[in-house]
Formats: sequence, structure tokens, C-alpha cells
Amino acid sequence: MLTIINSFFIDLCILFTLFTISFLPFRNRPRLTPKSPFKARVLLGIQSGVIALILLANALHLEGILIDLRTIPITLAVLFGGWVSGVVAAVLFLIGRFFMITNGEYVGFYLAIITMIALVVPTSLLRLKLDNTRTTLLIFMTISVIVFGSALFYALPLELFYPILLVYIVMTYLGAAASYRLLHELRRHFENVQHQQQLARTDALTGIANRRRLNEAMANLTVEAEEYALILVDIDHFKRVNDTYGHDVGDDVLRELGMLLVDESREDHLVGRFGGEEFLIIMPNAQKDDVSRLAESIREKVSTFPFETSAGTLHITVSLGACHSNDIEVDSVLKHADEALYHAKESGRNRFILAS
Ligand code: GH3
Ligand code: MG
Ligand code: MG
Repeated sequence: MLTIINSFFIDLCILFTLFTISFLPFRNRPRLTPKSPFKARVLLGIQSGVIALILLANALHLEGILIDLRTIPITLAVLFGGWVSGVVAAVLFLIGRFFMITNGEYVGFYLAIITMIALVVPTSLLRLKLDNTRTTLLIFMTISVIVFGSALFYALPLELFYPILLVYIVMTYLGAAASYRLLHELRRHFENVQHQQQLARTDALTGIANRRRLNEAMANLTVEAEEYALILVDIDHFKRVNDTYGHDVGDDVLRELGMLLVDESREDHLVGRFGGEEFLIIMPNAQKDDVSRLAESIREKVSTFPFETSAGTLHITVSLGACHSNDIEVDSVLKHADEALYHAKESGRNRFILAS
């Protein structure tokens, strides 16, 4: 009895370890469903098939048959990826099982084929109707127990059948529930990490990119060595807005300006808050004409835009300084853009200067 329990316990350890590793390629992708991209479902099938084979390699040998918890990865493959993942996993498993035939004991192999079909076909059909829920998992595991239990009944003498069936049932339900929970927790963990990463790159006030994200994007520009431009946008006399209407109204203006800049820019531009009341627009693949056109249109738009704040409608202007890459390092491009902005302020504000 202890040998049987030990064998199943090793199966559980294999399951947890391999589920954790095989989850990694999916960690930043949406949850897998039968409607996920075909390639992802095939990958899940291959992973599940390999896990089933590793369980098989550690299986309990009894009366010419091999007993293990293979039904768990196969069933979970159907639960997450539908019939495609289930069929890929089952076929892969059976190919491996074929090479495990020893001393001409074909009974075990035929039983494996029958149990795979009896497991994958009904669960795949049910998965078309049922969602990925704990109840579905329970139904699937019950099918597994019936299918595999019948195979055990057929293959084993009665005195072996009862103890093995008992351990098998306990381990199947326990292992499936724990594996499902593990995958659930991993999903939550990585979603949380992704969310935190997103937050770490977002400006809390305006919801657009923050300085960290802008710096990362600028660091990538040097590597890609393409023609690009940086535009700095700074609100004119913003201190007066704060002094006259209060900080909250100033915040309203910053939020609205952030949205306006995003609206005016193209999708491949990155708009972020560089600090205080200063914004930066990174324009990849930009010609000099594009830079002037965008900067001028922003300047004009802002000067007439009604900024709706808690103190009523306000009007502001911005000054802009930009620099086109021209084969110089990104630090220098930024420095030239900053100098151009300084000159725009010096020469009266509400203007745009392109560094030459
Ligand atoms: P200039 O035209 O020369 O740019 O004048 P300015 O008043 O806009 O520039 P200055 O650098 O003197 O002041 C910037 C102001 O921006 C001061 C600061 O209180 C305000 N500011 C910076 N960050 C925030 C913020 O998050 N919220 C609000 N409401 N104000 C901010
Ligand atoms: Mg300012
Ligand atoms: Mg400033």
C-alpha cells in the first residue's frame, strides 16, 4: 500500500513542477480557452502530452499495465485548450506509450488507447457546452475515474484492484484540484506582476506614460538607430494657474493636456509626462517636416482649447522645443530639444522651435 501511495505522491510532485514550468510561456498571454490561437492550443497539447509521458516513465508497473496520474494533464489540456489540446496530448502520449511496450504485453497499450479515447472524446464534447469552472473539472475527473477505474478492474486481480482504485480515486481528485488551484494562483500572480509593471510605467495623475517609460523608450531608440524626433512641451506660466486657482485646478489642466497631446499624436508616438508641467513626445520614424507639423498643430490647438476645470473653463498656452535625431546620441537630442524649449520661452512663449 505504501508503495502505491508513494508512487502517486511522486506523480503529484512531477505534476506540480512541470505545470509550473509549462505555465511560463503563457504567463503574459490571455487565459487559454478553446478559442485561443491554434498554435497556443497545440503548444498546450504538446506540454500536456510530455507531462503525461513523464508520469508514464515513473508509473507503477502491475500485471502488464502502467498506473499513473496521466489523466490529470490530459484532462486539464481539454479543460483549458479544448479538443485540439486534448487530441494533441493524447496522440503524443500514445506514441510514447507504444515505445514502452515490453515483453510483447500489448494489452496495456490497447487499454491505454481505449482509455485515451474514452477520456478525450467525451470531455472534448462536454467542453463545447461547459465553461472552465470547478464543476467542469469535477465532472471531467469523475469521467477519468470511471474510465481508468474500469481499465484497472479489467486488468488487475480483485485483491489488487480495490486498494489501487481507492488510492487512485483519492489522488486523482486531490491532484486535479491542487493542480487546477496551482495554475489559477500562477495566473493571478503573473497578472498581478503585469499590472504592477504597467503601474510602474504610468503617470498616476494623467494616466499616460511616466518618465521611467519615456526613458526606456529613449534607450531603445539608440539601439534601433532610426530617424526619430523628441518634442518637449511645457506649459507657459503654469505657476500662475496654481497660484490663482489652486493645485487641484492645476491638476485638472495637466490631465486634460495629457489627453489632448495623446489625441493629437499618432498611435506610434509615445506621449508621456516628463516631470511637473512638462511633457515629452517621442516620434519614431519621423521626418523633420512631421515634427514641425505636429508641434505647430499642438501649439495652436492648446492656445484655443477650453480646459474644463473645477474652477470653470481656462485657457493656457504651451511652448515647445524639438530636435530631430540626425545621427546624434539620444542624450544630445534631448539636450538640444531642451535648449530649443528654453529659447521658445525666452522669445516670448506660446511658440515652437526646432533645434537645428
Ligand atoms: P514657464 O512659462 O517658464 O514654464 O513658467 P512656469 O510657471 O510654467 O514654470 P515654473 O517652473 O516656474 O513652475 C512650474 C510649476 O508647475 C510649479 C509647480 O507648482 C507646478 N507643478 C509641477 N507639478 C505639478 C503638479 O503635479 N500639479 C500641479 N497642480 N502643479 C504642478
Ligand atoms: Mg512651465
Ligand atoms: Mg517646466
